[in-house]
Amino acid sequence: AIRASGIYMEYGDQIVLEDINIEIASGAFVSVVGPSGCGKSTFLRMVLGQERPTRGTLTLDGDPLPGEPGPDRGVVFQRYSVFPHLTVAQNVLAAYEFDASPLLGKLFGARRRAAMDKAMHLVESVGLGPHAQKYPSALSGGQQQRLAIAQALAKEPKVLLLDEPFGALDPGTRAQMHALLKPLWREHGMTVIMVTHDLKEAFSLGTRVIAFDKTRIDPQAPGRYGARITYDLDLDPRSPVPV
Ligand code: ATP
Ligand code: MG
Repeated sequence: AIRASGIYMEYGDQIVLEDINIEIASGAFVSVVGPSGCGKSTFLRMVLGQERPTRGTLTLDGDPLPGEPGPDRGVVFQRYSVFPHLTVAQNVLAAYEFDASPLLGKLFGARRRAAMDKAMHLVESVGLGPHAQKYPSALSGGQQQRLAIAQALAKEPKVLLLDEPFGALDPGTRAQMHALLKPLWREHGMTVIMVTHDLKEAFSLGTRVIAFDKTRIDPQAPGRYGARITYDLDLDPRSPVPV
């Protein structure tokens, strides 16, 4: 589980997030919504381990965050920078930890074959099988996002963080990505936290939807209050109903 207890994020005297308390069960699919600038990406960066809360504690399976952004967490941004000089298959292969070295030169024999098989399986599971030997510049936006997802999954992360991953896509391609993502989430049994501005997407994919918002604004000191969780709806039919 991911557990946030009384976390704050402050930049100078601007408070971005204020007293966030939440527990996210392992395997949940949490959609995060809220107005622009309210701190959604900041929250994801804290879970990713790129930023440290200025107050409070944040843990992943009991271990304090941030640690180094490790293989237990994968991330996909709105526009992901895949390696332009590597093909689709090589991009996914490069995401495996033991093959961080440029290209495949260092892997031999059975080990290399196993890694290639795994990478190709992922490439196929995101529907890029026919494009495996192409370079990213020859892919559409939706195909590049699928590649980014395959790369993130290659690390077999416990937690997949998605920051408006489909924001740049047309409605048809988005629908395709939704149809792809849900089975991948189930198959991999990971926790997903997805930031989106699309409420339909938030509710159709999420097992839980949370909203961040600033509920108090002091016009004299706009940064004095941060965003809090203003909405938290559990859509998971397996969850116990509170009485
Ligand atoms: P959007 O929906 O537009 O992506 P967001 O909810 O993801 O917005 P964040 O990117 O988390 O918002 O930013 C929240 C606030 O924190 C903003 O007011 C932003 O200016 C501020 N902020 C973010 N990063 C920094 C930083 N490194 N230094 C100072 N302020 C920052
Ligand atoms: Mg953002």
